[in-house]
Amino acid sequence: MNTAELLKFDREHVWHPYTSTIDPLPVYPVKRAEGVYIELEDGTRLIDGMSSWWCAVHGYNHPALNAAVEEQLKNTSHVMFGGLTHRPAVELAEKLLEMAPRGMDKVFYSDSGSVAVEVAMKMALQYWYAAGREEKRYFLTITKGYHGDTWNAMSVCDPVTGMHSIFRGTLPMQYFVHRPEVRYGEVCLPEHIEELKQCLRNNHNRIAAVILEPIVQGAGGMWFYSADYLRQVRELCDDYGVLLVCDEIATGFGRTGKMWGVDHAGIVPDIMCVGKALTGGYMSFAATMATEKVATWICTGNPGVFMHGPTFMGNPMACAVANASLDLIRGYDLPEMIGRIESQLRVDLLPALEYPNVADVRVLGAIGVVEMKDAVNMGVLQAAFVREGVWIRPFGRLVYVMPPYIIRAEELRRLTSALLRVIKYFR
Ligand SMILES: *Cc1c(COP(=O)(O)O)cnc(C)c1O
Repeated sequence: MNTAELLKFDREHVWHPYTSTIDPLPVYPVKRAEGVYIELEDGTRLIDGMSSWWCAVHGYNHPALNAAVEEQLKNTSHVMFGGLTHRPAVELAEKLLEMAPRGMDKVFYSDSGSVAVEVAMKMALQYWYAAGREEKRYFLTITKGYHGDTWNAMSVCDPVTGMHSIFRGTLPMQYFVHRPEVRYGEVCLPEHIEELKQCLRNNHNRIAAVILEPIVQGAGGMWFYSADYLRQVRELCDDYGVLLVCDEIATGFGRTGKMWGVDHAGIVPDIMCVGKALTGGYMSFAATMATEKVATWICTGNPGVFMHGPTFMGNPMACAVANASLDLIRGYDLPEMIGRIESQLRVDLLPALEYPNVADVRVLGAIGVVEMKDAVNMGVLQAAFVREGVWIRPFGRLVYVMPPYIIRAEELRRLTSALLRVIKYFR
């Protein structure tokens, strides 16, 4: 197949994320990727601004990650996890628990972020079932969240952008309160948390857990909120006997400038989900961690076991590459590495605030967001970015970058200046 035939077959038969099969936007064929560069079939080299949706934090084709996969491939690519265990899985659990907020004690592996969220939600429900509180079977969350595309994960995504209306009657109904408007770095006043407090006061007997993305809401709106708010959510959960599930799938492993989103607030969740950067973007893999207390309740009561066990649970290849990815992360000076990207994103992107079509510019850790006043034309902007030699994929009113951590200052400058040029030109 030449490139034209490849693209034709793709257009006619391959479904892409959130895409029409009748009138799909163009896709760009990738030949290979290396470091922060994605190379297209025609030889065009693009500086990656997306880390392939938060995953490829070490860049592409990384020698240490390649070596881990190759080594493991020669040993065992997969064995079932029921009744068997292996070094990569045990070593990974040891590393994860060492890096995780203190209090996390058990690790449950699964195949993707969405499944890790399903697992977390099932844990919360089984916890209350075992405790004889079966009426606690709903979740409370904040609007504009994103937790994945499977059924229960979808039920706690933003009801509007997640299009809950399509699935009405089949999707579990959950409790929603408005996302905190109090920004990162600001103090959370009583009025900022009143709605959540009231919802807990009125419904805590029916609520198993609060579930949210700590500090940074990703795909639902790229919003950074007050650490003080998160700290108060933790306190309210304790006051009202409700578990706290933190979805660190996007925020985890240093992206926000600290190892975990929850570290900004100095809190520990009862259950937390990790994924995405876990394998450095090499493989789909995720984990749900829980405190000893949560695990013990689940396994003390009826039925005495946690009811989940995916086929590819603890896949040795994924564990091996995750081990290598975590070794890299532990070897980085994260505050320095992410701090440098953060400062440069601030300097480079803030001039956009002067543009008449820009509503807001915000930066946290290695995440830079330009919020436009109106929704952008994704196809047109995408093509303009490719012409500029960068890979940035906007959605709605948001044009944003979250580059691989290894990006150099001059590469980041090319990325941000392309971003500014394109949004300026298309106003
Ligand atoms: C991407 C994401 C998920 C879903 O992960 P998948 O691997 O795509 O299933 C869940 N939660 C958050 C916060 C995410 O960013």
